[in-house]
Amino acid sequence: MKRVGFIGLGNMGFPMAANLLKAGLEIDAYDISLERLEAAKKLGMDVKDSPNNVVQNIDALITMLPNDSAVKGIFIDGDLLQNLDKKVLIIESSTISPNLAKMVAHKAHLNELSFLDAPVSGGVKGAELGVLTFIVGGRRSDLEKASYLFNIMGENTFYAGDSGSGQIAKLCNNMLLAIHMSGTAEVLAMGVNNGLNPETLSEIMKNSSGGNWSLEKYNPYPGVMKGTPASDNYDGGFLNSLMLKDLRLADELSELSKSDIPMGKLVKELYEDLNEKGLGDLDFSSIQKNYLK
Ligand code: NAD
Repeated sequence: MKRVGFIGLGNMGFPMAANLLKAGLEIDAYDISLERLEAAKKLGMDVKDSPNNVVQNIDALITMLPNDSAVKGIFIDGDLLQNLDKKVLIIESSTISPNLAKMVAHKAHLNELSFLDAPVSGGVKGAELGVLTFIVGGRRSDLEKASYLFNIMGENTFYAGDSGSGQIAKLCNNMLLAIHMSGTAEVLAMGVNNGLNPETLSEIMKNSSGGNWSLEKYNPYPGVMKGTPASDNYDGGFLNSLMLKDLRLADELSELSKSDIPMGKLVKELYEDLNEKGLGDLDFSSIQKNYLK
């Protein structure tokens, strides 16, 4: 593995590509944002002016795009797959609908290419530190080819099953994340409204049966945990707009599979409200704002 194409250099993609570069790989990079391309160039990536120029002479292609429409534009509407060399491994790491992931995998396989859906967990910090979790769907033999790259960008890889399964597992995870973040935010506010200190209450619940990832790693209450978006005006991190996208995808998945998700539907409404209030660009832990007095 020598040269990797990377499309989508946003909050997640940029540090992921930077880690590959640091590990000695050559990176051909593309993003629609000129600002992102400028930053990539400064770091030593080989910047290209179109997706089709990224895919020349590469061993693997990684995409880290915001949503279905961007992924569809690159893989289904464009002719990129036809332009790739047969040996190239494609790793699609955006969070998108399982059906689109399956559709792209099918088109890639028709073109004799290796394709994995490999959404990630771990956030921007995880991407920067190279400790992401990759949740993978596709052929096991392709996963073996990809493990060298996964090990540079992350520390855990889970195989979920056939194409699309990585996305299904990721949507289940993010729906649960939204539910426990939202629940954590409302109980912290209730405790504070009743005279408790949010740090003390967090410590008590973290070590009791209410303990969860939001309390342990990503406390939503301002000032309780250093280095979290909540202690930095909810700046950056995983945006409310992206969480809403994932909750809508999870809702679609529940309809298609006739699964009851009352909590999932409720939390989707809460994130719809946040986005309607114009808070789409804040971190998803800003759901706490709903309950601050
Ligand atoms: P982002 O909006 O910061 O980055 C997306 C990048 O893609 C931007 O730089 C944008 O300019 C670029 N882009 C958009 N359309 C493009 C196109 N057609 N061609 C090339 N570049 C294009 O988003 P992000 O936070 O990096 O998230 C990327 C994906 O990872 C999303 O699907 C998100 O749900 C998922 N994710 C994000 C996090 C997180 O904490 N931010 C965590 C896990 C998974």
